[in-house]
Amino acid sequence: MACAPSKLFAPALLAWYDKHKRNLPWRRTKDPYKIWVSEMMLQQTTVNAVIGYYDRWFQMFPTVGALAGAGVEKVLKAWQGLGYYARARNLHKAAQVVVREHHGVLPRDPAVVRALPGFGPYSTGSVLSIAYDLPLTIIDANVRRVAMRLLALQGHADTKQDRKIGGFLQTIFPPKHAGDFNQALMELGALVCRSKEPLCILCPVIKFCRAFARGRQEIIPKPKQRMIKDVAAVIAIIRKGNKFFIQQRPAKGLLAGLWEFPGGKIRAGEGRARALAREIREELNVSLKTADYLFQVTHFYTQFKVNLSVFLCATAPLPKADEAHKWVNLKSIHQYPMPSGSAKIVRELEKINGIMVSRC
Ligand code: SF4
Repeated sequence: MACAPSKLFAPALLAWYDKHKRNLPWRRTKDPYKIWVSEMMLQQTTVNAVIGYYDRWFQMFPTVGALAGAGVEKVLKAWQGLGYYARARNLHKAAQVVVREHHGVLPRDPAVVRALPGFGPYSTGSVLSIAYDLPLTIIDANVRRVAMRLLALQGHADTKQDRKIGGFLQTIFPPKHAGDFNQALMELGALVCRSKEPLCILCPVIKFCRAFARGRQEIIPKPKQRMIKDVAAVIAIIRKGNKFFIQQRPAKGLLAGLWEFPGGKIRAGEGRARALAREIREELNVSLKTADYLFQVTHFYTQFKVNLSVFLCATAPLPKADEAHKWVNLKSIHQYPMPSGSAKIVRELEKINGIMVSRC
């Protein structure tokens, strides 16, 4: 039988965290701005992916004021590759509010912070508990899985579980060290109470775990079937001398405001050549004359995988430049924030650019 979680739960978890936590850059600071940025970067993104971005970010935007005063394109460029670009836009907007209304210091009041762009219940709790030690519980995927196992809850790990989990967290929350406690639960989920093959033998709270006591830790939570959809798309590389044509996505919607090469999804029953001609006509109002296959790029998003077939295209006439359409060379293209798939295409173009020049 597992013991009911008691006053002993938090000290056991905190002692383990003190000894075993990963040495991550955002754990070496109490600066609310740095904690805020790291928490936004870590949403939907792995710790390893964030580490490189974190240091670069503070070289470019060392203070809330520097971030607030920067142009949005520079902010999106610094974020390029982290995905979910709304997080970067909201960070930028929220920094402007913090400078304008709070003297450049992130407020402590949860209701005020919750009203800032990009803050939901989770990010408000995580940032304020870590930066200011406010006693706010948080539930992310790791915490949800750990709590479901501790309580031996049935079902999938989804937000339907959160009312019960929230009540449970209140009973084990320590009077001090709120930020460390929240991070310790997440760290336990990441390192020990892993979604597959939890390392129960190393677990500091094993004696409180009902799933372990019943031998059910491998089947709680109930596994979800994840469907990865395949999406096929065609991309047109249109060049004029040493310049390439790029266009900006609409200001709203998926990957809003980022820059990319023309192209789009291949429709059912449509070949690549027809899709290319249609996309170019619809997007640029020009006709496709020739299309030479260059290479393929694959990019994974959370729910789908995109296979981008890239073609060197000639059009009649050449598309025109304006605010949202540009001709740029491979050096200046790096100033434009792009989705990861398009950035991969740029890297491939850099490799073959000399060959293409000699062919054109
Ligand atoms: Fe997770 Fe195992 Fe610890 Fe239970 S005993 S909380 S299943 S690691």
